[in-house]
Amino acid sequence: MIQITMPLNFLGTVYREIRQALIDMADMFHLLEQPAEVKDKPDAPDLQVSGGRVSLQNVAFGYEAERAILKGIDLEVAPGQTVAIVGSSGSGKSTIGRLLFRFYDVSSGALLIDGQDVRDVTQDSLHAQIGVVPQDTVLFNDTVHYNIAYGRPTASEAEIIAAAKAAKIHDFIASLPLGYQTTVGERGLKLSGGEKQRVGIARTLLKNPPILLLDEATSALDTDTERDIQAELKAMGEGRTVITIAHRLSTIADADRIIVLENGAIVEQGQHAELLAQGGRYAQLWNRQSDDALE
Ligand code: ATP
Repeated sequence: MIQITMPLNFLGTVYREIRQALIDMADMFHLLEQPAEVKDKPDAPDLQVSGGRVSLQNVAFGYEAERAILKGIDLEVAPGQTVAIVGSSGSGKSTIGRLLFRFYDVSSGALLIDGQDVRDVTQDSLHAQIGVVPQDTVLFNDTVHYNIAYGRPTASEAEIIAAAKAAKIHDFIASLPLGYQTTVGERGLKLSGGEKQRVGIARTLLKNPPILLLDEATSALDTDTERDIQAELKAMGEGRTVITIAHRLSTIADADRIIVLENGAIVEQGQHAELLAQGGRYAQLWNRQSDDALE
């Protein structure tokens, strides 16, 4: 029996490792890949950000021509404002984030940053102005130093340490025998979900972008860690324009504005208390999540 189960266990481990590596690669491509159809215009200027106003003007979009995903979205995010996008799974929340990053072009309408259409500026300059904190931070198989410095490769050692301190990960890194030279990622030290998120926050702090796109974590962090990470994300949002794609409503109750998306259209918007009082779709989502939490 032992002879049979051991190889099976071993195969199971190998399978899981290969599967995880493939998932990591998919995440990385998801983050870095530029679909071939999106190209800079000849002589496109760089994006010039003054305040970080994001405007979606009657934006329609579909991944395939025959299936509309976003249908006439009008959304204005003022400089320094925090807007949360909520809605049921598949309603188009993440798609808005992908359009902001210009992974795809809108089918009609326009997406502007400080009055400049994202299609008219260089993608490099656009990406330099937007910090993305994804659900699961992708770590490269390299040192912690490299992983944080990826936010701004020219950063000095002191700046990297300052970013790590602000993300509350410095003490942990300093406690490792090789400190910032420790290799992390699949082939190195495996960090916990919270530690990875903090490396991601440090990376983004170092990049210091005026606009933040937060794809809120759905991965299971324990409640205390999650509360701490939320506090760090909130601090990072101070003085920046923040768009949060939210999967859980409890974390976005204090957003300046909440946008409720259903089937690619905005069906409600306002602040948490207003929306609850309206007793509409948001209230329904909120009550359902509260019920789930009690189960
Ligand atoms: P969730 O909360 O589940 O993450 P979401 O609101 O963020 O959902 P999106 O990821 O924006 O939803 O997806 C909206 C719709 O677009 C879904 O029906 C999805 O199947 C479809 N979609 C997403 N990505 C692609 C793609 N690359 N090609 C084709 N369809 C896609």
